[in-house]
Amino acid sequence: MKTPPLLTRRFVQILFSGIVVFIGIRFYLFVFCLENGIIPEIERPAGVEAFLPLSALVSLKHWLYNGTINSIHPSALVLLLIICATAVITKKGFCSWVCPIGFLVEGAAKLNGMVLKKTLRLPAIFDLLLRSLKYLIAGFFIYQIFYKMPGSSIEQFIHSPYNQFADIKMLKFFTDMSITAFVVIFVLACLTITIRNFWCRYLCPYGALLGLIGFFSLGRVHRQPSHCIDCGRCEAVCPASIDIRQKTWINSLECSACMSCIETCPEKKALGFKLVPGRKSLSARTMAIFFLLIFTVGITIARVSGHWQNKISLQAYLQYTASATPSSKTANYISPEKKQRMIMMMNQLRAQKMQNFKKSNESQK
Ligand code: SF4
Ligand code: SF4
Repeated sequence: MKTPPLLTRRFVQILFSGIVVFIGIRFYLFVFCLENGIIPEIERPAGVEAFLPLSALVSLKHWLYNGTINSIHPSALVLLLIICATAVITKKGFCSWVCPIGFLVEGAAKLNGMVLKKTLRLPAIFDLLLRSLKYLIAGFFIYQIFYKMPGSSIEQFIHSPYNQFADIKMLKFFTDMSITAFVVIFVLACLTITIRNFWCRYLCPYGALLGLIGFFSLGRVHRQPSHCIDCGRCEAVCPASIDIRQKTWINSLECSACMSCIETCPEKKALGFKLVPGRKSLSARTMAIFFLLIFTVGITIARVSGHWQNKISLQAYLQYTASATPSSKTANYISPEKKQRMIMMMNQLRAQKMQNFKKSNESQK
C-alpha cells in the first residue's frame, strides 16, 4: 500500500524531533550533574553541537585551511556538512523533513488554520524585502568568518572558552532566559502563528544557506503541463507560496521539498519530485530513506574516524561551571557548597588520572 507523502514526512519529522528532545534532556542532565557536584554518568551527547552553527562555520574554515577537523566541536562541522549535502538532492528538504523548528513552524501554521482560520500573507513587496533578510543574516556571518576573520584567529577562536563552552551557554539561554530573550521569542512565535512560515521564510540563516545550495539541487518538483488541469490546488497548499503553475521545473530557493503540492494535486501524473538527470521520480519513501541514511552513515563515519565526540575533558567542564563569577549568567545557581564539592570532584578526577597514568607506566615496564 502506498503511504501518503505527508504521513511519511511526519514520521521522519517526529523521529528527528524526538532525537533532538532526547539529546536536549541528556545534555541538561549532564550540565545539571556538573553544577551539583556529581560526576555525570551519562556521556555528553555530541549531537547538541547541531545548535552551534557559528562554531560549525569557523570549523569549516579551519578544515578548509588546515585539512583537519578540530577536536573542540567536531560534530558541529560533521552535522553542517551532512545538512548541506542533503540540499544537493532535496533542495531545502532538511527544513521540512528533519528540522525540529520547521516542524514547530508547521504546527504554528496548523494552529493558525484552526484558530484564526486565515493565513496572513504579506504584500508582495514586503514579502520580497523581508525574504532578503535571511540571506543578509547568512551573508553577514559568512562574510565575517570567511573573509574578515584572519587565518591566525581561527585556532584562537576555536580554543577560546567562549567557543568551548558555547553549548552550555546555549542551554542557559533557554533555561535561564532573560526578559529580553523571552520577549523576542514570544514576538517571533506570535508572528510565526499569524504569518505563515514567518521564521523559516524571512529569518532563518540556515534555510538561506540551504536555499542557495539547493538552487543547484539534482532533485526538484516537476510539473507536467500536458497533465496539469490548472486547478491551482498546488499553489494554495504550498507553504512557500511558489507559483507552481508558471513553471515546469520548480527551482525556487524557497522550495523545501515538502511534497504537499504533489499530495494535493488531483492529476497523479502532473506533479512529482524528480531528479533532473533522467527525470527519475523520488517517492516520499525514498526521500525518507535518503534522510535517515545520510545522517546515519555520516554520523557513523564521524564516530569511527574519531570526529564525533569532542576532546574537552570533564575536568575542563567542571572548571568552567565552578568558575562562574557573579557577573556571569551562571553565577546565581552555584552556591559556595556546590563550588566546594566541584573542587573535590576535580581533585578526585585528577587523582584518578594520576593513578591510571602510573598503572599504565608500570604495565609498560
Ligand atoms: S513547491 Fe511543492 S514541494 Fe516545494 S515547497 Fe511548495 S508545496 Fe512544498
Ligand atoms: S494541483 Fe496539479 S493539476 Fe492543479 S494546477 Fe497544480 S499541478 Fe496543475
